[in-house]
Amino acid sequence: MTVPPRWRVLVANRGEIALRIMRACRDEGLETVAVYSDADRHAPFVRAADQAIRIGPPAPADSYLRIDALLAAAAESGADAVHPGYGFLSERAAFAQAVADAGLSFVGPSAAAIAAMGDKTSARRLMAAAGVPIVPGSADTLSDSDAAAAIAAGIGFPVLVKAVAGGGGKGMRVVRHPRELGAALTAASREAVKAFGDGRVYLEKYIERPRHVEIQILADHQRTIHVGERECSIQRRHQKLVEEAPSVAVTPALRERMGAAAIAAARAVGYRGAGTCEFLLGADGEFYFLEMNTRIQVEHPVTEAVYGVDLVREQLRIARGMPMSIPDGPVTPRGWAIECRITSEDPANGLLPSAGTITWIRAPAGPGVRWESGVESGSEVTLFYDSMLAKLIVHAADRPRAIDVMQRALAELVLVGVATNIPFHRRLLADLDFATGAIDIQFLERRADLLLPADDDATTTRLAIVAALLAEERRVSRRTGSPPVSTGDLNVARSAWRDTARRDALR
Ligand code: ADP
Repeated sequence: MTVPPRWRVLVANRGEIALRIMRACRDEGLETVAVYSDADRHAPFVRAADQAIRIGPPAPADSYLRIDALLAAAAESGADAVHPGYGFLSERAAFAQAVADAGLSFVGPSAAAIAAMGDKTSARRLMAAAGVPIVPGSADTLSDSDAAAAIAAGIGFPVLVKAVAGGGGKGMRVVRHPRELGAALTAASREAVKAFGDGRVYLEKYIERPRHVEIQILADHQRTIHVGERECSIQRRHQKLVEEAPSVAVTPALRERMGAAAIAAARAVGYRGAGTCEFLLGADGEFYFLEMNTRIQVEHPVTEAVYGVDLVREQLRIARGMPMSIPDGPVTPRGWAIECRITSEDPANGLLPSAGTITWIRAPAGPGVRWESGVESGSEVTLFYDSMLAKLIVHAADRPRAIDVMQRALAELVLVGVATNIPFHRRLLADLDFATGAIDIQFLERRADLLLPADDDATTTRLAIVAALLAEERRVSRRTGSPPVSTGDLNVARSAWRDTARRDALR
């Protein structure tokens, strides 16, 4: 057997996923190279790497999206491979190709597989040919509004206008009545030009109240397997906020059927590495292929928890020509895992991203808790990048207990300095409908109350302020030997802290 290469891996990403990938590299005995923009000079992921190279100013177009700058950094650092993470260039076929052309290994599928899945109408055609169920809709790009009207009438309203180059829910419009179709086509196309430089749109049947259930795929040079499902129905404007594994709606038999469809999808494009097939699952148990994400997903840790795998290490193994380390045979989930995405979205300001300095973070810990963060106390949060700061993942024996652990972990979590969606997560995890698992992708549209600021957010804020006060006191007294506030004030703060913590525990 040939000895797998001892690589130096350049991580073409930032934040929590860059750190996550570097940890996996270290676990595999591989060296790491960070690339960073000026805004990330002091970020934890930069310090975590063996080498770090500046690639440009803060704006992504001037740094993390610059293929030439990334390849120059790879040459300068002597990197053997590039891991793209998620977002940025991770699903850009041209990037995978440029990496290969530079004589480097790309930790991901081939450029051809990325391209085949990146165009939604071509992916739908390929999937239909491979026997994967797709949402009923137009086979091609729409030429004009008369053709669109005829197709829509054939599908039946409501229909969904979607961008061929779509991503992140952009260029999508729901149309409930024929007379709204023309305006929706124009609006979706205009949005798609702005977001992707490609205004082509097509039509799909709009499925009412489906769940978003996705299947994790792993493929090495011999086997293509599935590693179960994740339920990602808790979304706001088509952006996932909470994910779990397994799904309350998926029986072992359905898991095998969806798994087989996802494997067929991956094989149809000669897929290699880790990937995800997204499906809509109807209340009737019918499922439809949405798209394949040809990269690691944000929510991969919930799969790791219930299946006991390290998906990023598997990606690295496969890219190095090694077989995946997962034994043959059916995979069975153990227990339940939930992930909450902690974003710097301000509930008091229409959930728009907020910026500022994180003055203090207290990360949750204890049994069943995993904290994946790109930031630390002192980190600067800018508006240049995605608003996701960190992910909180819990794992317990079953769903009710996972909800308990998540509530405890959220109560322990303190993040001071920027507004976050932590209060939303606390309300959701305490919600009775969420507890029964009666969720679908329109759940948060119906329950907008969960997203808005509530009175009990004041409790969280108070807890955070007291925590920050105590932290500051410890820091200053360590430096100067004397506390910045009077002993009396500190006693009041400490008892307020204990009261709040106790009330949180009782809730
Ligand atoms: P994007 O690539 O922009 O993320 P997707 O095709 O993955 O687009 O769709 C994003 C989200 O939009 C899905 O998670 C789902 O919530 C919703 N969606 C997509 N297609 C449909 C459909 N045909 N019916 C109902 N909802 C849909």
